[in-house]
Amino acid sequence: MPKVRVRFAPSPTGYVHVGNARTALFNWLFARHHGGAFILRIEDTDVERSKEEYERQLLEDLRWFGLDWDEGPDKGGPFAPYRQSERLDLYRRHAMQLIDARHAYYCFCSPEQLEAERQAALKAGQQPRYSGRCRTRPREEAARKVAAGEPAAIRLQVPEGVFDWNDLVHGPTTFSSEVMGDFILVRSDGQPTYNYSVVIDDHLMEITHVIRGDDHISNTPRQLALYQAFGWQRPEFAHLSTILGPDRARLSKRHGATSLQNFREMGILPEALRNYLALLGWSAADGVTEIFSDQELIRQFSLERVIKSPAVFDQEKLNWMNRHYLKEARRRKLAELSVPFLAQAGYLEEPADERTLGWLERVLDAVLKNLDTLSQLPAAVRLIFEYDAEGVLRGDETRHVAENAGSRDVLKALIPKLLEVRDLNYERFRTIAKAVQKETGKKGKDLFHPIRVALTGAISGPELEKLIPIFEEGSKLPLRRHVKSVAERLREFAAAAGLS
Ligand code: GLU
Repeated sequence: MPKVRVRFAPSPTGYVHVGNARTALFNWLFARHHGGAFILRIEDTDVERSKEEYERQLLEDLRWFGLDWDEGPDKGGPFAPYRQSERLDLYRRHAMQLIDARHAYYCFCSPEQLEAERQAALKAGQQPRYSGRCRTRPREEAARKVAAGEPAAIRLQVPEGVFDWNDLVHGPTTFSSEVMGDFILVRSDGQPTYNYSVVIDDHLMEITHVIRGDDHISNTPRQLALYQAFGWQRPEFAHLSTILGPDRARLSKRHGATSLQNFREMGILPEALRNYLALLGWSAADGVTEIFSDQELIRQFSLERVIKSPAVFDQEKLNWMNRHYLKEARRRKLAELSVPFLAQAGYLEEPADERTLGWLERVLDAVLKNLDTLSQLPAAVRLIFEYDAEGVLRGDETRHVAENAGSRDVLKALIPKLLEVRDLNYERFRTIAKAVQKETGKKGKDLFHPIRVALTGAISGPELEKLIPIFEEGSKLPLRRHVKSVAERLREFAAAAGLS
């Protein structure tokens, strides 16, 4: 087998959707598995819809997703340029070659003529396709018209017959030439069509395997017709199934998060998304393993295990995987990733300094087990940043702590003792709690529940052992939102509840 060369060829006309992200991932895994090359090519010949801004975003999103490419518009490579808008000359030259070989011809039909033909075919209950009217025009006449400046498209002269290939996912696939007609290669404005430029590039870039979404399956016979016309060896083709939403309709924006950017903003980790998308349409040999490192995915990936039936996107499962990767991630890295989420919530300044990051590691350690995604972080740390004693007294679930005699006794005994302590830590807190237990006769839940509520304003949450140092350290940091120390909280509570 020649060295494997695959490409991801997005059009910069919008954000990278999960379907495309999965296509990119499968190409990347395939390349890395075979020690081949993964190429990024920008298909920006649709001048109206393509935007530089989208291309920039696309590269950034792919980098965030964790894929690296060996050749591409930003990197160059032996087959540069990798942006189709910079290859127009190549397309023109090859089209002339096809015209000379009589595999292609100039078409002067006006849009109105073509539309009238289309309507007539539809009326007659036939599939519309180009009639081939300009096929028979003598070449000299066509050349004269072009030289005189008449607008002309270039069409491929598609021979009658069938176009078939052995799709590496779908198996043997056949299309009749009847369904395609002589399609356009270069429009009258000089812009190449997708089916044309993709073949020129795949051939010149020595692509061995075309792995793409199955929305392109009906384009493949057109592309095969081109390989045939040029006399070029065709690559292998593998068409990946569509991704569906839970309602089994094609996954789209209305199903929620669908672009790489959406997932990034939600606080999904790229490693979780890679693992999740790898299993969307592919399964490991044992059919059960679900958590895979990149190395393991690369080792095991093969197109034979890609399934042809559509895959259903399951946000819950992605969340589950994300939870796994959040727990695995290095705390410092997570702390860094958390900053934008907490800055957005108004809690921190961005960028955060070293001390804040260190403190955030503690915070994450306390709240992580309840998180699916980092976007849930602000809600999970509310009790750290937004203590409000008045609110505790108003809360249906919390007010009893200020009203119940037993709870009041506990807090009355506890508060003055805690307020005396300098440099509070959990050990000192435990010693005081023990003394309060002795003094009031309350223990277990009767003792710790009122303390928790008075300190955090909530009836449940992370262990006090973790929270107390977080409050103490946090109160000394210059954060955008001041974190109240244990003493500040208790003073505020005592005043509000009339305990002092
Ligand atoms: N530019 C095409 C797309 O984004 C590429 C299709 C292909 O891989 O051939 O759908």
